[in-house]
Amino acid sequence: MADTTPIPIFCLKTATGGVDLRAAVQRVLDSHWYILGAEVAAFEQEFAQYTRVEHCVSVGNGTDALELALRASGVQRGDVVATVANAGYYTSTVVDAIGATPLYVDIDPDTLTMCTDSLANALAHRPKAVMVTHLYGRLANMAALLDLADTAGVPVIEDCAQAVGAERDGQRAGSWGVMGCFSFYPTKNLGAAGDGGAVVTSSPELAQRLRTLRQYGWTQKYHVGVPGGRNSRLDEIQAAVLRTRLPHLPGWNASRRAIARAYNDAFQHLPVQCPPSFEDDAVAHLYVLQLDRRDDLRVFLTESAIATDVHYPIPDHLQAVRMHNTALHASLDNTVAACKRIVTLPCYPGMTDQQVNRVIRAVTNFFDR
Ligand SMILES: *Cc1c(COP(=O)(O)O)cnc(C)c1O
Repeated sequence: MADTTPIPIFCLKTATGGVDLRAAVQRVLDSHWYILGAEVAAFEQEFAQYTRVEHCVSVGNGTDALELALRASGVQRGDVVATVANAGYYTSTVVDAIGATPLYVDIDPDTLTMCTDSLANALAHRPKAVMVTHLYGRLANMAALLDLADTAGVPVIEDCAQAVGAERDGQRAGSWGVMGCFSFYPTKNLGAAGDGGAVVTSSPELAQRLRTLRQYGWTQKYHVGVPGGRNSRLDEIQAAVLRTRLPHLPGWNASRRAIARAYNDAFQHLPVQCPPSFEDDAVAHLYVLQLDRRDDLRVFLTESAIATDVHYPIPDHLQAVRMHNTALHASLDNTVAACKRIVTLPCYPGMTDQQVNRVIRAVTNFFDR
């Protein structure tokens, strides 16, 4: 009998359930100190060390990390921010919140991250900052992108929400640009038991500005010296949870990578476009195939009790909220084409070999029929 137990797109219980959090949570409860205390200070130090930068400023979530990073780099109402349109609207949300204008840059059709030629053209519009998303956990072509942006004198900020731990030439995600932004949303490769985020930087000035912005713009208690501040803090319980889970991250990333490699090996002769190989610079946050018959494959896999998803179905410049807007963009042909061809398959720590093989067999069967 064929196994028809549902395979979810992600399972928190198998992905992180093996790490007991009770002692960490109890430690905070016993301390009676809930905000900006010893756990947050220790996590910030440990996470800065992990990402190989000087400073980490934790915040309430990944979206706030992006917004405060843009504000710290001086982006204001009316400024232009270069970004991609295939990364789930997170960056667009914060550009909108600031009252700045997104300038959408096309993507490379293989890596689905920012295209260097497209950025070269976009820099002529004099953006105030460039936001690069390491989509699905794959480091964008940072050396080439930074080269262009540096020459134009424009700071690059990394959205590392999906790419914690990805590294190339010994440099981790978040350490390439002037700032790197992380989300600890529970399903990310390093997840909290709730919301959380962080900005990392090796600039003491930027770190100081971020610490001010996350707490009302206070330069000291009750002295508001910096505009654009707000309340966005990681709480002590989440910091304690993250400290407990951080040592497990390399193992979790390795198991995601192993599943992604098994898929790539199995699918390489099928009429699909596999993601590029999974080296140290890709942590397989999501395993995303491209094919013309994407919707048919999804129906077929649903019938085999295998969950799929599309990350993300609507490019930012075509979202309903942007219908009457002033976003700038060049040709986004690769972006629009990819949105119709992408499908995400289950890939998470704790997936069994049987489950991985069932996904492989089902995708192969789809083309054998
Ligand atoms: C999850 C995610 C975010 C937002 O993080 P939150 O913690 O949910 O606010 C931003 N960018 C990318 C690419 C993400 O995947």
